[in-house]
Amino acid sequence: MKNYEKVVKSVTCDLCKEEFNAKNWGRDGDCKTRVSYQSGWVTRDNCGGTEYSVDVCPECFMQKLGPWLNSQGAVLREKGYGS
Ligand SMILES: [Zn+2]
Repeated sequence: MKNYEKVVKSVTCDLCKEEFNAKNWGRDGDCKTRVSYQSGWVTRDNCGGTEYSVDVCPECFMQKLGPWLNSQGAVLREKGYGS
């Protein structure tokens, strides 16, 4: 039995078009940004749907998307995490 692992080698920011990898995505390399919307259906035996998403680098999230959301009346929720 073969075991496959799905690995993302790099991500291109959909706003600034810069390519990022695990080493330069954010200052400490541990940032995750992704904006998505899922629309789907579920039955007893099946499920499916469509996901719409964009990949946004941490800088564009904070410098572009966040201020735009604020201008539309949304407030970014801030929550600490970690041990
Ligand atoms: Zn960007």
